[in-house]
Amino acid sequence: MARYLGTNCRFCRREGMKLFLKGTRCSSEKCAFAKRPTPPGMHTRQSSKQSYYAQQLREKQKAKRTYGLLEAQFKRFFHVASKAKGVTGRTLLQLLERRIDNVVYRALFAFSRDQARQMVRHGFLFSVKGRVDIPSYLVKEGEVFAIKANDNVKKNIKSSIEAISKERSVPSWLDVDTENLKIKVVRLPEKEDLTISINEQLIVELYSK
Ligand code: SF4
Repeated sequence: MARYLGTNCRFCRREGMKLFLKGTRCSSEKCAFAKRPTPPGMHTRQSSKQSYYAQQLREKQKAKRTYGLLEAQFKRFFHVASKAKGVTGRTLLQLLERRIDNVVYRALFAFSRDQARQMVRHGFLFSVKGRVDIPSYLVKEGEVFAIKANDNVKKNIKSSIEAISKERSVPSWLDVDTENLKIKVVRLPEKEDLTISINEQLIVELYSK
């Protein structure tokens, strides 16, 4: 699957807010957005009037970039959400949160979603059904995941957890056993569990044109 390999910090500057894409760097003085909160590029003066379409587009880009998806992947998620029962926007956010790479990130096992995705791809994650190595796998209520890796990897993850827990905490929809490196999905996430605010209605309107 193709991936964007450019500088993630551009995204925060473009969206005008921290998207926390680079782990501990995001809370440090090295954060590019903290140093220069203007949009990237030569013409950095932001128009005071943003069209409604531009607002819809920015909201979609913000969600897409936060979860590290490409356009086609994001569109697929929207398509699934639009076919599901319930309110499309909320379902879309729930689907994004339920991705296993996001769950590993939320469980504090990784500094960023990029790192979490790598851990999943490297095959460190197991459920009762076996290895889970597809980052877009959607977790279900009651599922339990465990890290299976050599002692060195486990030791690194445990020390990461210690550092990460100083900056963020595990959301209430997950139950994490940091000693045995296990994650239990207690319930499915809701919009209120998100850490950045996303106006999902704007995304629905954009795709419904
Ligand atoms: Fe965004 Fe993190 Fe880069 Fe800061 S360091 S601009 S929050 S990705």
